[in-house]
Parts: sequence; structure tokens; C-alpha cells
Amino acid sequence: MPESPAVHHLFIAGRWVESVSGNTFESDNPADTRDVVGRFQAGTAADVAMAITAADTALPAWKATPAPKRGELLYRFGALMAEHKERLARAMTREMGKVLAEARGDVQEGIDIAFLMAGEGRRMFGDTVPSELPDKWAMSIRQPVGVAGIVTPWNFPIAIPCWKMMPALVTGNTVVFKPSSDAPHCATLLVELMDEAGFPPGVVNLVTGSGREVGDAIVESPDVRIISFTGSSATGRTIAERAGRRLKRLSLELGGKNAVVVLRDADLDLAVDGILWSAFGTTGQRCTACSRVIVDRHVVNDLVARLAQRTTALRLGSGLDESVDVGPLVNAAAADKVQRYVAIGRREGELVTGGERATGPGLEHGHFFAPTIFAGVRPMATIAQEEIFGPVLSVVPVDGYAEAMAAANGVRYGLSASVYTRDVNTAFRAMRDFETGIVYVNAGTTGAETHLPFGGWKDTGNGHREAGHVALDTFTEWKSIYVDFSGKLQRAQIDNQPS
Ligand code: NAP
Repeated sequence: MPESPAVHHLFIAGRWVESVSGNTFESDNPADTRDVVGRFQAGTAADVAMAITAADTALPAWKATPAPKRGELLYRFGALMAEHKERLARAMTREMGKVLAEARGDVQEGIDIAFLMAGEGRRMFGDTVPSELPDKWAMSIRQPVGVAGIVTPWNFPIAIPCWKMMPALVTGNTVVFKPSSDAPHCATLLVELMDEAGFPPGVVNLVTGSGREVGDAIVESPDVRIISFTGSSATGRTIAERAGRRLKRLSLELGGKNAVVVLRDADLDLAVDGILWSAFGTTGQRCTACSRVIVDRHVVNDLVARLAQRTTALRLGSGLDESVDVGPLVNAAAADKVQRYVAIGRREGELVTGGERATGPGLEHGHFFAPTIFAGVRPMATIAQEEIFGPVLSVVPVDGYAEAMAAANGVRYGLSASVYTRDVNTAFRAMRDFETGIVYVNAGTTGAETHLPFGGWKDTGNGHREAGHVALDTFTEWKSIYVDFSGKLQRAQIDNQPS
């Protein structure tokens, strides 16, 4: 008899509690759905209300805590993640399927941002600037926004929550965290470590449950002053409409349709390495995944042949097996969606490899899909325009740089892009011309580092950025302060003008 799965709880006001709903849901292993990872509380609006009250109650003491001291707690949390890195990575692979090496990278991103933001506790720079009037001081400082609602996807289940919660907490906000229902175990393990690190009760609260119920209640609450959301553009749009009605601050990180441009002078072997890693890593389920290769006609046949050969050699299976290259899709709905797009692709391009669910020994009980390449795809084809979020790559042939750039930029998304060229002038032109928040030269479209801003243009977001010191902007209000020590009324823009 298999052991019955552990039941996990919500974390509200420093205590692990059941949902008032009395209901739970299962999270299972996408590589073998018979393996149930655990049972999680199906949170409700009433649970969210309690979590928001806890966060609101904890807010005054937390924002009064000196930022360097808040930073020390982040540091302790980062050190705990480092200590538990392997356990977290294995739990992640089991719950959402990415291969172990990538899961370790995901945890490492969480550690990196914890340490980076711990340091911000001693920086968090404002400006001190000269006043236009004598005997007057002028400066600006950052202050927390308030209770922050953190709503996250499943594809980076440790990194993304950390990318949001670390800047939120170091700047003195308190948090209500709603993870994806496809990765509640990762979220639970993360919050357990935050508890162990010693964050005071109510500073971090975890409510698992559906977006419709829990996410909605967070977005609608007037007491949540800032929402930080990562997920699909469709969900982001509905959240933006509702948050907009309440004039609520909102940071959105949404979909992508990222291109690798391969020019005729490119090192093709290098390009193939980068394309494979970006297209099929995390089974194509990264916001920065490469789903379009825009390639000069002079080298397209050669490139496609090399890509096909390497792609068919990729090994599929459970990511816990270290010899596996590509894990499963996250759930049955994702596999159905990929299948639908592949059916469209068969009409829009020439199927080079893949194109079907992957079967065979070890794959029978998981959501596996063969890495798929379509060649001869037009830039405006559906599969070259819409985010598929799976292992499907479109090869779009073009003539020269200008056509390549027009195709690369001719989508509604703008997250990441890359160019392969040996010509330094062309590389600089591409750096200037891509309409994306992230650009790579002679590397694939993935691999962001936590000390640079992360985010996209156009429908990929709403102008905010995560990571880097700019992440603080999302979670702080600016306050400009003037101190007049002249002992008399001094009128700016008036008393210092020639009469
Ligand atoms: P999703 O379906 O939009 O869900 C994201 C989160 O929103 C989940 O926690 C979900 O909850 C919740 N949610 C759903 N409906 C909601 C509602 N009405 N109100 C409030 N919350 C709601 O996205 P996903 O499938 O998890 O993630 C994949 C997407 O994320 C892709 O489009 C990918 O490109 C994008 N992504 C973007 C970035 C970036 O930085 N730009 C990074 C990673 C991923 P439940 O699922 O539990 O119901």
C-alpha cells in the first residue's frame, strides 16, 4: 500500500492552520501521476482575509525594524536555502518536473536574490541633493507600500517567489503569498524555511488554493496595496483590470515569444547549443524559452539539420534521473495545449521532428511530449506568434538582418531575444534594435542573473522590473523631504528669482 500523502497547511500569523473550507487538493508528480506529492489546503476568501489581517497587524513593527536588521533575516533565510538546496531541488523536480540540474539552478536563483536583497538592507539608496534655496536640505527616501500580495506561477516555484518576496520584505512590506496550485509543496517548503529563519509572525503568510478563489480575494482586497504577479498574459490582463479599478499598484511579469536570430556569419555549433538549451530546457516552459529561430536562408538548411540531429538524441524521462535531458510538461492541460498547437503547426510548417506525445518505457504515467521542430514557418503564423509554453520550436527563414529584426520584433511580447553573429557591428545593432527587456549576444534566450533588472516590454508586462536594485521600486513609495533651517519663510521658484 502506498503511504497516504502528507497534508500541508496554510501559514497565517505565524501558525500552520487548516483552511476554513475543510477542503484539500492534491499535487502530483507530472513524470508519474500515481506519485502524489501531498495534499494542500484549498484556501478561500475567508482564509485570505485572515492572512491579510495578520499581515496588516505585523506591518507597523516590521516597517519600524531597521532595514539592516530586516536584511539579516533575509541573509539567514538565504543561508537556510543553501543548506537545504538539494532537498528543495528534488522536491521541485518531483512536483513540477524540471530536470534536477535546472531545479538546483532555480533554488540557486532564490539564494542569490536573498543575499542580494539582504545587502539592500544596508543600501536602499535615496538621493540627497542640493536645494535651490540657502539653508535648506533636500532628500528622498524609500518607504514600504504596505501589505503585498504575491501571486506566482509553477515554472520557477522557488526563484520567482523569492524574486518577489525578498525585495518586498527588505523594504518593510508584509506579504500574503499565493503560489500556483501546481507547485504548493515548493511554496510550503520555502515558507517553512522563512519561519525557521525567524521572520516575525504575520510578516509572511501563505495561502494555497485556486487563483479564482484565493488570487481573486487578494486582488480585490482594499488592504493589499501592491500586487506582484507572474503568470500568463491572459490572467495578468484580468488582474490589471481589477487592480486598476482600485488604483492598486501592480507589477506584472507575463508571457513571452522569444527569438534567437541566427545570421549567416554565425557559429552554427554554438547557436545549436544555445537554441537547444533555450527551447527544450524546462521542457520549453520558461517565460524566456526560445520558441522561434529566425535564421538567414543561406544557413537555414544546415542549421535545421544540426538541430534535428541533436533534438532526436535528447533523452526524456523523470527529471530525478540525472541522465535525462527533458522532463514532462506540468499537467494534462499543458500537454493538451501543446498538442493543439502542434496540430496547427502541421498546417503552418514542415514537421522536422517530434510532433506527438512521447511514449515508451518510463513515460507511461507522465505528461511527456517529444521535443518538436517545425521548419519553413512564416513570421505571422500562429505557432510563431502565440506562446505555446512547451517543447515546440518554429524555424522562420529570412533574408538578412533587417528582415530578421522585423520578424523578431513582430510579436506582441517583448521579454528576451538573442543574436548569433561574429560581426561586432551587427551585434551592437541588434542590442539596440531588439524590442525586449533582455538581450543576449551569442548565447540563448535564457539565463538571467539576479543583479540585473528582469522583465519585458509590450504585453510581457507593465513596465516594472524584478531583480537588480530596481526591484525595490516596485515595493517602495518615494518620499521627498525638505528641511528648511533658515528660520524664515523661503518660497521655492519665487524668492530665488531676480526681481
Ligand atoms: P497562470 O495560469 O496565469 O497562473 C499564474 C498564477 O495566477 C497562479 O498562481 C494562478 O493560480 C493564479 N491565478 C489564476 N487566475 C487568477 C485570478 N483570476 N486572479 C488571481 N490569480 C489567478 O500562469 P501559469 O500557467 O502558472 O504560468 C505560466 C505563465 O507564466 C506563462 O505565460 C509564462 O510565460 C509566464 N511566466 C512569466 C514570467 C516572467 O517573468 N515574465 C516568468 C515565469 C512565467 P492557480 O493556477 O493556482 O489557479
